[in-house]
Amino acid sequence: MSGMLSEFHARPGCGKFAFIVHPLGTATHQLNAIRPSLDLRSQWGTDLLGFSRGLQDEVQGACERLLAPRGTAIRVIDELESIVSITGDHISGRFYEIPQSPWEIQADPQAAMDSVVQAVNSAADWGAEIVGLGALTGSLGAGGSLIAEQVAVPVTTGNSLTVYAAVQNVLSVCQDLSIDLQHEPLVIIGVPGSIASATARMLAPHCGHLLLVGRNDSVRLQRLGSELSAEVSISIPAALARSRLILTATSTGLCLDTELLQPGCIVWDVAVPADVIPVPEPRSDVLLLSSGLTQLPAGCRQSGGYLWLHRGVVPGCLAETMLLAFEQRAESYSLGRQLSLERIQDIGKLASGHGFEFGRLFSNGLPVSDGALMQFRQCRRRIVSPHRPSNTAARSTAAEAGHAAERFRRYINPVVAAVMEQSDLLRTFVRGSGCQLWDSEGREYLDFVAGFGSVNLGHNHPHVMAELTKTIQREAVGFTPGAINVAASQLAERLLMVAPPGLDMVQFVNSGSEAVEAALKLARAATGRTSLLACDRGYHGKTLGALSVSGHRPYREPFEPLLPGCQRVPFGDLESLARHLADHSPAAFVIEPVAAEGGIHPLPPGYLSQAQQLCREAGTLLIVDEIQTGLGRTGRMFAVDHDDVTPDVLCLAKSLGGGHVPIGAVLVRREFWNQAYGTLETCLLHTSTFAGGSLACAAGLATLDVMDDPEFLANAEQRGFELCEGLHKLAERYSVIREVRGKGLLLGVEFQPLPASIRNHWLECSGMLAMAIPHLRERIDALPAFYVMQSLLRHHGIYTQLCRSQPHVLRIEPPLNIDSAQVQQFLTALEASVQEIDLTNQMFVDCLSKSIRGVLDARRLVSSPAPAVVNARG
Ligand code: PMP
Repeated sequence: MSGMLSEFHARPGCGKFAFIVHPLGTATHQLNAIRPSLDLRSQWGTDLLGFSRGLQDEVQGACERLLAPRGTAIRVIDELESIVSITGDHISGRFYEIPQSPWEIQADPQAAMDSVVQAVNSAADWGAEIVGLGALTGSLGAGGSLIAEQVAVPVTTGNSLTVYAAVQNVLSVCQDLSIDLQHEPLVIIGVPGSIASATARMLAPHCGHLLLVGRNDSVRLQRLGSELSAEVSISIPAALARSRLILTATSTGLCLDTELLQPGCIVWDVAVPADVIPVPEPRSDVLLLSSGLTQLPAGCRQSGGYLWLHRGVVPGCLAETMLLAFEQRAESYSLGRQLSLERIQDIGKLASGHGFEFGRLFSNGLPVSDGALMQFRQCRRRIVSPHRPSNTAARSTAAEAGHAAERFRRYINPVVAAVMEQSDLLRTFVRGSGCQLWDSEGREYLDFVAGFGSVNLGHNHPHVMAELTKTIQREAVGFTPGAINVAASQLAERLLMVAPPGLDMVQFVNSGSEAVEAALKLARAATGRTSLLACDRGYHGKTLGALSVSGHRPYREPFEPLLPGCQRVPFGDLESLARHLADHSPAAFVIEPVAAEGGIHPLPPGYLSQAQQLCREAGTLLIVDEIQTGLGRTGRMFAVDHDDVTPDVLCLAKSLGGGHVPIGAVLVRREFWNQAYGTLETCLLHTSTFAGGSLACAAGLATLDVMDDPEFLANAEQRGFELCEGLHKLAERYSVIREVRGKGLLLGVEFQPLPASIRNHWLECSGMLAMAIPHLRERIDALPAFYVMQSLLRHHGIYTQLCRSQPHVLRIEPPLNIDSAQVQQFLTALEASVQEIDLTNQMFVDCLSKSIRGVLDARRLVSSPAPAVVNARG
């Protein structure tokens, strides 16, 4: 090779070459049939197909006109005449097409090889001195070696120049984008294929961390991995999750799903047919490059339809064949599975000497402009910058939203993702304003969840946003333990001003569960007692202490043993409470004014004041958990205000953060605070680093500002009445609704269990699964509520949730500044959804009653009447 360039200048070439191609699909086969009378004489290569959208349209139009029946014979599809290199040498060439598509080649390689041998021999008869094996034909017969043995002319797969071009491409893109391969891992997919393996060998010295991906765990993959000190993998998704630099060169094509790419990812797709699965909407946060391409010098471009069509940008394998023809090198060049690195370097140098270039970038068939590259560089910098990698990944901007679900599935909770996705309930909300939400697809929703009571003010309330912005702008301090925080002191005072009289101390915390933890500790420390009493429907959080006093057994059981000495009484049952207090003298009795998570059950009127009396008599502290009911949710500032009760301890959280910042507070009677923490030894017994931070307290103060307006609470109360009235009317009309409950804007609609015949049918269909699926019966009974929630979201743009431990109850909890029109919109949508489930139930029951199974069910129902809960129509 070394003497080749000097020889080359001394001798004007007049070589003839041929290049073997195959259709990439039916469309390209038809395109190949377009004759010279139509300007576009030939076409080849899907990723180059669309280098101009207009041209593509033209091509497709022509294609439709022709609709040539699929050929079965080998044919010449293009003639490239008088190609002149920058040194004045001439060559001419022919493209031969074999009839097999990529899939047919993979399915029957022997038949494809026979076609290739036939095509190469035809080319030899025509006078070709070197024949290139294009695209998949180069992978046949052990990388062309077996073909070379059967034909009368030298052949090359052209893979050496493809590898050279790809390597140059990787290095120049990394340089342009300031990517240091020593610090960012590079993934190479397609090992032990010849292109992927040789590329890995060429790039290994530049890389700090190389990850090789093969289809199966072959010896050759392992061997190359240890030779290059590279990691190996057989999972493309796993590799994509590890790196933002991907080179792919498989022989199967269509194996790389762009959905799985991390933002800021660059893919060099060397494969023909391409490995990247085409998508209608290309992502702007990843760069997909067609790689392994060579730009011929200007003089070459006008010859032949193919070169004209592609403006002289050709796959490396074709360029290598042309080079060998220019050189009149009548010898096979790139054959076999293991390409020689030396020959790759040599052909690369030779190509450069002929004026071939490798720097042009193509993405989705279009040239990448410098401007677009710079834009991507900036986008990538924001994402990959070592200074802020994680917060960018977590931010749910619209641009990121498309990948958020995948990340959620991968990093946060695959089970929730799967369940929600199966029911088409998975949404990525990217914007919120007042009661409205927008998802990543731009769809608008009414929010009837309000963050389970943490968005009482609506999303991004302007006053809260302004106060948070001001706090940041004036460089308020974040956390200064042991020192005084202005906002915390102000917030404590403001909270006590609106709290029921008698509460006079505040402990700040960071969440609802923490508020409950703090309350329980305070009660123990103040009373010197240890046992605790709570309610069977209660929910107080998922930290160990809060869980110990929560009611729902499935939440508790996996974590037992929890706090000892915790007992539960039936929610709203005064007699039972009296008995327990008398018998056990607990430190505290914990209760929610409306058991929210437990199914939206309000306490009976008068219960709280009597409970308070009983607690006083027993020396037990009354802890009221207003984490969800507080701050206007029930139409008053606090739910205890309905009963004029001042508990000993009141827990707050959720909406105190204005819908944006986590914060909780425990309001306490001074005497109990003193008993617990009023000495030098005890004053620091319960603290938390983040408690009472400036931003959180600014959110709390802004929240109280908004609530100071009497109109705000009046609206909550009024809309609560409207909603409740509307729901009761629906309950009268539709028997699937069993009960409507709640207070203010914390309402629940309980649905009837499924009619017995349907439920039995489901259980029977589930067969053995019925035993394996925990709580299947309850889940089946929750189907009507689930159906309604689904229908509201999918068909009416209304976002609701079910009570998680009582999933047959639909939870209705909009922001408190909802208006009448939105209430009506909700009621109309709910009616439509409820009507559907009513009718569906009816039809299901009718169907079943006509089946044998149904007759049996009906008999069973007659002989043992179903409980009253069964739908009257069922
Ligand atoms: N108590 C009640 C009444 C709640 O509704 C909740 C949250 N749903 C909690 C405690 C726990 O709050 P967090 O999730 O902030 O820990």
